[in-house]
Amino acid sequence: MNPPLQTQNDTCPACGQGNLMPQTQQNPVSHAGHHGSVAMQFSVCDHCGSELADTAQALANKRAMQAFKKQAEGLLGGAEIRTYRKHMKLRQDTAAALFGGGKVAFSRYESDDIIQSTAMDSLLRLCMAMPTNLSKLASLKGLQLPPETRNIVNSHSRDQFIKLAPLVQKILDQELTEKRKHSAQSASNDSSLGAYSQAGKTVETSRWERAA
Ligand SMILES: [Zn+2]
Repeated sequence: MNPPLQTQNDTCPACGQGNLMPQTQQNPVSHAGHHGSVAMQFSVCDHCGSELADTAQALANKRAMQAFKKQAEGLLGGAEIRTYRKHMKLRQDTAAALFGGGKVAFSRYESDDIIQSTAMDSLLRLCMAMPTNLSKLASLKGLQLPPETRNIVNSHSRDQFIKLAPLVQKILDQELTEKRKHSAQSASNDSSLGAYSQAGKTVETSRWERAA
């Protein structure tokens, strides 16, 4: 979990007299050709007017900027990754063991402390799109998925099957109809061929009879 971001009204270190009043301001930012605005936190001294950011504010600002960069680069946001991981009932360390990136990778992705690589982003998206990929990933790593995660993967597979079953049945029915049509057609071809050879034989016979 992220540490709570708290800012207290402290005495201004610049003048030593005023109090620092926390504020938030939308700042225009741009990254990778994308423009937007990010809420930046800082404090203003009510005596000398100095503006400064404490550790917690600086961290919040860094995270807000990283989140904007992820969005600009078309990468999953920290909140999206957290939602997915929680939906799959994975702990952060289990997710890191499965996906890689180091022991604390997921806490850092999810709090927007770092930007995941495009390879990690793609891997996450593949598993989001097809939960059975998580089982494949686990077997590749020689790991067992937690039982509650396995249940989610299995129930998704079951849902997929139920959704696909009527479609598969329709395809099989169509194939069967086609096959029947073909065999009926070739049967009628056979019988017309039979009639032809029959006619040929008749001709032959009559010719033979005539010759005789
Ligand atoms: Zn001051």
